[in-house]
Amino acid sequence: MLRNHFETEHNLFRDAFRTFLDKEVVPHQEEWEEAGVVDRSVWRKAGEMGFLLPWAEEEYGGTGLKDFRYEQIMCEELAAINEPGFMIPLHSALCGPYIAEYGNAEQKARWLPGIIRGESILAVAMTEPSAGSDLAGMRTTAVDKGDHYVLNGSKVFISNGLLADLVIVAAKTDPSNKHAMGLFVVERGMPGFERGRNLKKLGMKSQDTAELFFNDVKVPKENLLGDAKGGFFYLMNMLAQERLTNACGAVAGAEAALQATIEYVKERKAFDRPVAHFQNTRFKLAEMRTQIDVAQVFTDRCVLDHNQKKLTAEVAAEAKLFTTELLCKVVDEGVQLHGGWGYMWEYPICRMYANARIQRIFAGTSEIMKEIISRGMKL
Ligand SMILES: Cc1cc2nc3c(=O)[nH]c(=O)nc-3n(C[C@H](O)[C@H](O)[C@H](O)COP(=O)(O)OP(=O)(O)OC[C@H]3O[C@@H](n4cnc5c(N)ncnc54)[C@H](O)[C@@H]3O)c2cc1C
Repeated sequence: MLRNHFETEHNLFRDAFRTFLDKEVVPHQEEWEEAGVVDRSVWRKAGEMGFLLPWAEEEYGGTGLKDFRYEQIMCEELAAINEPGFMIPLHSALCGPYIAEYGNAEQKARWLPGIIRGESILAVAMTEPSAGSDLAGMRTTAVDKGDHYVLNGSKVFISNGLLADLVIVAAKTDPSNKHAMGLFVVERGMPGFERGRNLKKLGMKSQDTAELFFNDVKVPKENLLGDAKGGFFYLMNMLAQERLTNACGAVAGAEAALQATIEYVKERKAFDRPVAHFQNTRFKLAEMRTQIDVAQVFTDRCVLDHNQKKLTAEVAAEAKLFTTELLCKVVDEGVQLHGGWGYMWEYPICRMYANARIQRIFAGTSEIMKEIISRGMKL
């Protein structure tokens, strides 16, 4: 189905980003997968090309492109090459906005230029070993000591956990109020800030996912973003945009899985005919085609609504729920239509299957998405 919400400048941006990926990412994907982490240098190269935080103001080194369609294009192109480790959306559309939105002028001037150049890689640390969906149940604390806070606790499953130079850490600031939390920018090298091992995962193998530990970390007050008790609200506020990036990537990932499957079933023969000629195959592919088209239209509309600041938390949750469930269905059917070869790592569909599974869990599970959507129905 033809999409009609991109203009010439978006198509040019897509071409430039695709060229960049072909040159700087695709040749390294296997090596990064083996290493369990992408090379830092690719971040700097992306920064030089203006692909990091393109929405940021020019005074910080951004290009002022305040149009989510550019973020959407990057999510789509990364999904199209099935690269889960080079998380530009995490850096640009999730973490960077916390600093731009809640940081003061001094903090923005201090951090944004390095972030935009790809010299300072970002992560956000909310999840803890005993609290994921229930963010208010987190135990990490930040105690006010006058000119600084002292952070204690640990975080788990943190994307960019090893590479990150600046980690936005959520921590409780008032024992009498479980929703009072602050967002603290913890910098590489701060005494007491330590990282655990790179966690072994089902998929997303080129992405460094780590545990982080905070033992009496002295964080200067200059590193607190916004209000010391407003962090919970800030997180909730930003999660809608995060979920929209998930949706953009999920639809593109489903499209990539469909294309890989079409290519395969046309070549593969069984009972003297291409697998594509079985009615079951054609019907499965037709269902996928239809559902992806529907999901795409919905996601594109969400992007336009978001540009106008009209995307609600409920609709963003619908987008994440629908597209990530669809992605998992498509990769599963794709593996099925590949037969045993679909279970082999050397086939793209196998990696797509492994990479997709987390999409229904992180940034809020499908169950939490349903909670958010149903809350909006005032039942
Ligand atoms: C690869 C990877 C990368 C990640 N990256 C980050 C990151 O960068 N930063 C970060 O902070 N976190 C990150 N996470 C954490 C992720 O966001 C959490 O895993 C997720 O929010 C779920 O939390 P949990 O794992 O504690 O599961 P739990 O909250 O323990 O959930 C377990 C099950 O209970 C269900 N459940 C929980 N509450 C309810 C409810 N109210 N109603 C119905 N069902 C419910 C859940 O849906 C789920 O099925 C990452 C995780 C992974 C695996």
